[in-house]
Amino acid sequence: MADTSIEWTGKTWNPTTGCTKISQGCKFCYAETMHRRLRAMGQPKYSEPFTTLQTHPGELHLPYKWRKPELIFVNSMSDLFHKDIPLTFIQKVFAVMCEASWHTYQVLTKRADLLAEYSPAINWSDNVWMGVSVESEEHVWRIDALRRTGAKVKFLSLEPLIGPLPNLDLTGIDWVIVGGESGRKPRPMQREWVEDIQRQCEAAGVAFFFKQWGGTNKKAAGRLLNGRTYDEMPFTYQANNQ
Ligand code: SF4
Repeated sequence: MADTSIEWTGKTWNPTTGCTKISQGCKFCYAETMHRRLRAMGQPKYSEPFTTLQTHPGELHLPYKWRKPELIFVNSMSDLFHKDIPLTFIQKVFAVMCEASWHTYQVLTKRADLLAEYSPAINWSDNVWMGVSVESEEHVWRIDALRRTGAKVKFLSLEPLIGPLPNLDLTGIDWVIVGGESGRKPRPMQREWVEDIQRQCEAAGVAFFFKQWGGTNKKAAGRLLNGRTYDEMPFTYQANNQ
């Protein structure tokens, strides 16, 4: 587990590593770049190619070591609901999250079909936030799949946002994150798309978090939207941390 600069979380925990690309949002995958770097540095955990999914049972105990409550992003270097990860291992990850209950966990996937299929076999505790990534209109079906799960807190990561999402159904959704792509050749995100999503969240009473504009110099582009930051968190979390 490690500290992270990702704006909407506190720590990362990676009980699995590796992934394969599944949709346009994967084009400049951060995990792939980091994996390649760590592999070149000789880190044993990353000794296999990125496309080889690996489970790391030896890392399942890590959340117990953190005595202070943390906000933990589970699998910044993989997708927990990848078809190559056995359901039995996923269940173990959820069992740890249930038992190490003083933390809050954020799990994010693009494999919303497997997520919905596995959901009845998962023990959904209150401290687990389950999210799906949606980068464009073509993938809004993932939100319906998320809605079918037993997750107590549900969120959307609309990042990298590469198209407008004018008709989001936010029923049952607690939190929405929006972010633009960064890197050497990022696909641009239009201001109107972001403003529209912010308005939809406001109308639906859903917490809105604006992560970044992105671009070739994401630091310079910043994360102000119409002169302010949007750092809202799911209601239950805000209520407990005020
Ligand atoms: S699903 Fe996520 S981790 Fe996997 S390739 Fe796509 S962006 Fe990378």
